[in-house]
Amino acid sequence: MPAKCKERERIASSGNPDVPSLPVGAIRGYLCFRCFGPATNILKCGGCKRAYYCSKACQKLDWGLIHKNHCKIFKTINEVEEQQYQSTRTWKEYSEYLLQTVRIIRNAAPRDEALRYTVQAQAYCSSCRRTAVQLTNRNIALKRCPTCRLVFTCSECPSSSTTHPASVCATYKNYGEIENFRTAFFEDTGKASPITCTQFPRNTRKLLSECGNWHDYYVHVSDKPQIKGVIRPDFGGLVEGSTAGEVEGRRMRMFLLCATDNLSMPLTVVSALEDIACDAENINIHLVGATGRELVAMGNFEEILHLIPSVRSLHITAIGPSLMAGSDSPLIPKTSVDCCPACKADGRTRSIAVYKGLYHDYAKIAEFEKPDLVVLFNSGWADGDDSVTDWAPTIEFLIGEDVPALFTTYNRQEAEHEEERMKAFGARFLVGVGENRWRGLMPTPEFIDEEYGVWYNNAFRYVVKGKEG
Ligand SMILES: [Zn+2]
Ligand SMILES: [Zn+2]
Ligand SMILES: [Zn+2]
Ligand SMILES: [Zn+2]
Ligand SMILES: [Zn+2]
Repeated sequence: MPAKCKERERIASSGNPDVPSLPVGAIRGYLCFRCFGPATNILKCGGCKRAYYCSKACQKLDWGLIHKNHCKIFKTINEVEEQQYQSTRTWKEYSEYLLQTVRIIRNAAPRDEALRYTVQAQAYCSSCRRTAVQLTNRNIALKRCPTCRLVFTCSECPSSSTTHPASVCATYKNYGEIENFRTAFFEDTGKASPITCTQFPRNTRKLLSECGNWHDYYVHVSDKPQIKGVIRPDFGGLVEGSTAGEVEGRRMRMFLLCATDNLSMPLTVVSALEDIACDAENINIHLVGATGRELVAMGNFEEILHLIPSVRSLHITAIGPSLMAGSDSPLIPKTSVDCCPACKADGRTRSIAVYKGLYHDYAKIAEFEKPDLVVLFNSGWADGDDSVTDWAPTIEFLIGEDVPALFTTYNRQEAEHEEERMKAFGARFLVGVGENRWRGLMPTPEFIDEEYGVWYNNAFRYVVKGKEG
């Protein structure tokens, strides 16, 4: 087992973002911090009392690779917890306390997202909101919800069954299964996220607007009719009494559910192309604020060719400050990308270019061509620290160019805030803020904004073009 764990570190340190992150199941004490297999409470790090292991071997390996540095910072956090000890806290008090510790971690290790997440996602009593470490220090036991295994009640508070809603319990349980699937998938394939496209390009166009959900898409537009009557339309589980093999059905549900996380990008684009009635044969798309995530999903963008038979070529430019630059310029020029044999035989082409920098700067270079669609996936442009300095000039440029621009966000609140800011810029909305039918189905628990909050990739969307009036 430890050999595979080392492999994960090697892939991560090469800059590939497609490695599974530390599972919430590990942070909350039932999976091993190193191999992500079942952990034991006995093999807990004695220093910080926050890292759990399945074996001495995993503990030793983790110490050398990561935990030695993390342990020190965790101990500092534990001291802060003791200084701020209260016998009971409201959710608001607890979330303010978390924000404060996040600031401490940002100062100590600015780039270490994993470390920050480990503290944000820490186990606590859902009733008095004392943390696992605070309770351990007082020899008070923490009881785990037996169903989702991610929510706790301490032995001094009333029983766990009433503390979190059944819907939260079900979402967390589903999330736990996804984490296990991802770990197994990575060990089998070396990739964290399953990528799947419709295998053969469609001969006729079928509009996504005629599909109600992902299940419809897989059955009627893509090539997975076999899931009908096996996987429930909401992907929440298998159809009861289905004749398909239980193990195969479960595996297929997990694979297709996790695949939506990346497929969400091309499908959200195709859906926006339908909305703006784009019938171009040569499509030019700018992915603005792109990160490694978009590049990992790039293989999936062939789906645009496979769903729209009239498209002959697809050119995508990824633009963002965290991307790779060319050898002597911020631009890695247009390079062709392999298509599937059927597309190739038909003479269809795909290409990609990458620009390291901000969009309004990219727009000044000679290679800039006005795109058919600009796409900003979960950019959070209105809320980040860089909202005024970096994003405002980009948004102003976009509106001035009068190009259609598709935006997505993780939640409604963020989308509505962007809408308000967009209106202040005078933007004209082609599609107002609404739920995205092609959001990823993989939940990501969120631990600061809202108790039991969950995010989905590209959950909300809107499309703007030019100025109002
Ligand atoms: Zn282990
Ligand atoms: Zn430790
Ligand atoms: Zn309690
Ligand atoms: Zn539960
Ligand atoms: Zn193809």
